[in-house]
Amino acid sequence: MHLEISARPKKRLFLALILASLMLAVLSTIGLWAVSVPGLADISRYLPAILGLLIGLVALIALGGIAGIVFAILGFHTPRFFLGQAWSVINLFFPMAIRIGKLLDIEKETVERSFIEVSNHLVRQKLVKVKPERLLILSPHCIQKDTCPHKITRNVYNCKRCGQCPVNDLLNLTEKYGVNLAVVTGGTLARNVLKNLRPQAVLAIACERDLTSGIQDAFPLPVIGVLNQRPFGPCFNTRIDIEQVDALLQDMVAAREVKTS
Ligand code: SF4
Repeated sequence: MHLEISARPKKRLFLALILASLMLAVLSTIGLWAVSVPGLADISRYLPAILGLLIGLVALIALGGIAGIVFAILGFHTPRFFLGQAWSVINLFFPMAIRIGKLLDIEKETVERSFIEVSNHLVRQKLVKVKPERLLILSPHCIQKDTCPHKITRNVYNCKRCGQCPVNDLLNLTEKYGVNLAVVTGGTLARNVLKNLRPQAVLAIACERDLTSGIQDAFPLPVIGVLNQRPFGPCFNTRIDIEQVDALLQDMVAAREVKTS
């Protein structure tokens, strides 16, 4: 059995890598601008200044986005505009952050876990409590016991509740809170479920890679990510910390009314 210890990485790891990526991109752009100044000036003497100002403006907006995340993590109210900018910066620079992490010998999964921590923090901070019927638990198919003959991806209630895999535990939670549950085999099915159910918030269970891409794809839909446990290796009879899911649902589900932000 392959035991897994999922240490919770610091949020600052991801923030530092995104900031480093942004700085690298800004410095490269400034370098390119500097070598092009003579050529640009030949076209128009105003062009170098106009382009320089544009580069400065874009860099400032991007920096504002990152500052917005940092302030939100520190507990300050952050206007939606800055959080929107922050997500654009994250989406744009995420691949570069992963590469810088690699150069520093930091595993991709560690960076992704740090990103999920940042994202969860931001979502929980501005979390709108939602009516149970507007909340969806989205789980990967690998939580189902591999030998189970019942097809639950079309209808999770085909589960016979034998208790041999976490599907039963998740169904218990859907009954407790009145929320929706979908077990999906991949991104396409997940997108279809989101399209049909149109939830206001999602509690997604998956590995680092799928949670990272899912959270980014679903934005601005609030998604709380829960990492699955893989005692038998990836994508096979995976497990869930059901108490963690229970506690998160308590936070997310409105008992009687929807509170708006
Ligand atoms: S709990 Fe449901 S899905 Fe899991 S093994 Fe039993 S019948 Fe199959």
